[in-house]
Amino acid sequence: MKQALFSRRNLNFTLWEVHQVQQLSAYPFFEVHDQTTLEMVLDMATSIAEQIQPFYQPADKQEPTCIDQQVTVHEGVHVFFKAVVESGLLAAPFAFEWEGQQLPKSVFAAVDFILGCANNTFVMFSDLIQGCANLILTFGTDTQKQIFVPPLLAGKWAGTMCLTEPQAGSSLAEITTTAFPQPDGTYRIKGQKIFISAGDHDLTENIVHLVLARITDAPQGVKGISLFIVPKNQLDNPTLANDVKTIGLYHKMGQKATPALHLAFGEEDTCTGFLLGKPNEGLMQMFQMMNKARLGVGLGGTQLASAAYYTSLQYAQERRQGRRPNEHLPTLIINHPDVRRMLLEQKVIAEGTLALMLQCYLYLDLAEVSLEKQAHYEALLHLLTPVAKTLGAELGNTAVHQGLQVLGGYGYTSDFPLEQMARDVRIMSIYEGTTGIQAQTLLGRQIGGSQGKILTLWEKEVQQTLANAPQELLIFLEKFKQECAEFKLLTANLLKRSSSQGTEALLSDATLYLHYFGLLNMAWQWLKMGLVAYQALESTTAEDAFYRTKIHSLKFFFKYLFPQGRTWLAILQNEEHLTCKQTEEQLVW
Ligand SMILES: Cc1cc2nc3c(=O)[nH]c(=O)nc-3n(C[C@H](O)[C@H](O)[C@H](O)COP(=O)(O)OP(=O)(O)OC[C@H]3O[C@@H](n4cnc5c(N)ncnc54)[C@H](O)[C@@H]3O)c2cc1C
Repeated sequence: MKQALFSRRNLNFTLWEVHQVQQLSAYPFFEVHDQTTLEMVLDMATSIAEQIQPFYQPADKQEPTCIDQQVTVHEGVHVFFKAVVESGLLAAPFAFEWEGQQLPKSVFAAVDFILGCANNTFVMFSDLIQGCANLILTFGTDTQKQIFVPPLLAGKWAGTMCLTEPQAGSSLAEITTTAFPQPDGTYRIKGQKIFISAGDHDLTENIVHLVLARITDAPQGVKGISLFIVPKNQLDNPTLANDVKTIGLYHKMGQKATPALHLAFGEEDTCTGFLLGKPNEGLMQMFQMMNKARLGVGLGGTQLASAAYYTSLQYAQERRQGRRPNEHLPTLIINHPDVRRMLLEQKVIAEGTLALMLQCYLYLDLAEVSLEKQAHYEALLHLLTPVAKTLGAELGNTAVHQGLQVLGGYGYTSDFPLEQMARDVRIMSIYEGTTGIQAQTLLGRQIGGSQGKILTLWEKEVQQTLANAPQELLIFLEKFKQECAEFKLLTANLLKRSSSQGTEALLSDATLYLHYFGLLNMAWQWLKMGLVAYQALESTTAEDAFYRTKIHSLKFFFKYLFPQGRTWLAILQNEEHLTCKQTEEQLVW
């Protein structure tokens, strides 16, 4: 890339040395791959990233347009899409029978990371297509698979996920879009969806909308929601519309290259939908796509953290301002401790969240191929998905803002991409479930639902990955173990309290609980990285400088970020519920 926005050395380190993703080749599904072939895929992604990077700012400045119901996207999106389709990357994580390459999802996540560092907005188009194809492969009939999957993976058709409605945002139980059964087994769909990413564009000849709707006379609430495949154009004649209309385009704060649309289904009562999977199980099925999309959003935060870090690092190496003590000439700002602190914080966030994201994607691969331990990996994934999504989103936001600060006044101008990155990253903690909703999933469903037992599984997994820690790591490992013990005690107390004080009290500070558990997971990943780095330094052939920077970053994490857990612990231990609604309203002035 013209301006490096990620470190390939660090990506290789995380994939091959820390998580040892290449060991997936031992499973028949991945046996055609080895580290060499997988690295070639990363090389290809890097060359596409180089092509699309120049479009990052132009595609932000020239928003998509909507004329006569047809949305047109920036030419850069076309360049990206053509490259991803022609390189075979779009279909790469799918099975050979679908023209895929059976690429591990963890390696595809690395591909997405590389592409997203160059342009986090463009990858939404390919991610949505893959999500749609996955869902149809899991729940579709053989006929549906044959009709929809090949054109999706060939890039002829695109995909969307249509959940949100004006009255149904975080609470999808309120969905009112309706599906009317027809004698031929299809459904007439009627309703409106808002904020639909890539809901219309001029990239493909058709778009497959996956729409949540209620079949007439379905039960109330989430148990009455079904999932439908609703093509934009008719299947037997793609030149004819299927009564899906664009009502309007949202003017977003960031991620402007991907249009977000208000769509109307069935305004003329001629919108045909096909039931996907079982009636009334649509939301549960959709969770498959949503959970993968949540990992994608966390990865989006990591991409921007990395892009911001390398942009501000370069700036700090060129900008002279101020003097160091006892020096007469202005120095490069990278020499000031406060600037170094901001750079190190960004580095630690970018590398730590990347490690956690790839850990989750590895569990996703293992859950699919390791039959004997499938339940184990699925449980870990359920626990860690809200954590990884939120860490990527929230810490990504922190990191990008630190990057902007390193640039001083220039960071606040559109002469540099930091202000755009700050706008782009802001959405990550909102869509695919806000941070507040992720926190409730973690504390309410995962921890509360298992009465805390799932933490024992996590703890065992963590212990296993940190076994045989070298002497130098023990001081950090000890701090981590102490904090884990506090966290377990806190969890037990919270669960006890919920039986006396109720669920609202339990969940009132769920977001802080999520931040606390997130920090422990970051610590786990930094310890894993530190362990490998110390071991590498023991061998004479290691590249010392790289591993030494890793250990320096580990120390920085434990000095500057890890102690934040104490603040959250203190608040969570405090039983005064200042945020729960009381009889007398406190939010008045
Ligand atoms: C750019 C963009 C792209 C999007 N793309 C898509 C897409 O492709 N497909 C799609 O279906 N949707 C999409 N969305 C919608 C997105 O998923 C929703 O905006 C999000 O789920 C939040 O819903 P809402 O906006 O209605 O906020 P609300 O649900 O109204 O939430 C507002 C605030 O209240 C809090 N809150 C809500 N309920 C609770 C509760 N029970 N307890 C505690 N706090 C609560 C939330 O955390 C939030 O802080 C997109 C949105 C945007 C902005």
